Amino acid sequence: MRYLSTTGAHETSLVGALMRGLAPDGRLYVPDHMPKLDAGDIACDGLVDIATTVLEPFFEGSVLAPSLSAINADALNFPIPLRNLPGRDGPLAVLELFHGPTAAFKDVGARFLAAAMQRALPKLEVSDERPLTILVATSGDTGGAVAAAFHGRGGFRVGILFPEGQVSPRQRHQLTCWGGNVRSFEVAGSFDQCQALVKGVFADPSISAQYRLGSANSINIGRLLPQVVYHSAAALWHYREHGVAASFIVPTGNLGNAMACIWARAIGMPIGRIVLATNANRPIPDYLATGDWQPRPSVQTLASAMDVGNPSNMERLRHLHPDFGELRDAVAAIPVDDHEIRAQIAADYRRFGDIWCPHTATGFRAYDRLPVALRRESPWIVTATAHPAKFETIVEPEIEKEVEMPPALADLMSLPSHAEPLHADIAALGSALEMWDN
Ligand SMILES: *Cc1c(COP(=O)(O)O)cnc(C)c1O
Repeated sequence: MRYLSTTGAHETSLVGALMRGLAPDGRLYVPDHMPKLDAGDIACDGLVDIATTVLEPFFEGSVLAPSLSAINADALNFPIPLRNLPGRDGPLAVLELFHGPTAAFKDVGARFLAAAMQRALPKLEVSDERPLTILVATSGDTGGAVAAAFHGRGGFRVGILFPEGQVSPRQRHQLTCWGGNVRSFEVAGSFDQCQALVKGVFADPSISAQYRLGSANSINIGRLLPQVVYHSAAALWHYREHGVAASFIVPTGNLGNAMACIWARAIGMPIGRIVLATNANRPIPDYLATGDWQPRPSVQTLASAMDVGNPSNMERLRHLHPDFGELRDAVAAIPVDDHEIRAQIAADYRRFGDIWCPHTATGFRAYDRLPVALRRESPWIVTATAHPAKFETIVEPEIEKEVEMPPALADLMSLPSHAEPLHADIAALGSALEMWDN
């Protein structure tokens, strides 16, 4: 399998795509063809075994092919349960993606990328003794997941940049509790300034020559592929239990998680409809309604990890379905506003005792807004993207009680925290990197 930029102008190996992240033309990598699997031929049932079966074609011909099952065992070391939700209008289940070290689905992609990169380093053609310094700008979830995934892995260092005063206390702790090969920089500025700093350092010839810099962005193909795995596993488990393909509802911001669900269906997994639940950032629903692609500045919502005004993975979706009519048949989208998010969190707790994070609540709101006939006609799976305890300041007032932290999150909260203050300028980040050397 080779990987192409969505323009088709650049081609590289799996390792090339993993290490680069973005293609030289600034576009995203996609596989050069969609492999086709026959779901009926897949006999295994465990997550790691399904991962190895589903990803084998994507690793074909790669130097990493012999390491695929080790990468899966390393990355997928926590449960991803599919839980039936009885008592609804029709058959409904939730795919819980929040049992990893930082309690959100991004743990899966970040751990897989780290496990794959670690095994790729010794196989690179140009050998370099310096550690790979991964820089991430984060407004919340991503930084913690990347730090957790690379923490303690030889050959890597992680620098996290986050905006001072703009992350919740629990998020801040999760970004600053690592130590070892992870450093946290608390930037006197906005998230956009953090992102500009990282880009600036990559673009600065003297700084970037001095270090071996890398990134672990959510658009990296190494984060998409493991997300194909859990959608495939859930589809297979569901099909085996019920004998009918489930439809999926995926809370969506940058379209990474949902894109992986679309790829899972494209490779032959038993998946019916795919509905994207967005927050008040509506470029995707508006595009599907009008055919007019209008990215715009993001607006802040309660489902903050989905506050994306220009979803990067749209270019992958349009690459898979260049024809708009076909694309509109492939996915639907339902926008959910903050008022509905709050109401859904309160209502699902009162009706069923279920507690959702604000992102997951958009998915269940979208489910409730489907026509009743559609809910009865086909079984549905909603993906739960984060644990509600990460967003306790939003969730607790709605359910009027405390949300218990999962053990992994509670462990992190008990670690000491340390952040280095940083001015929002490139020279300051340059000298912080220099200090790190000594
Ligand atoms: C990142 C994130 C999302 C959005 O996922 P995309 O892949 O960007 O669409 C949804 N929920 C949570 C909790 C997230 O961290």
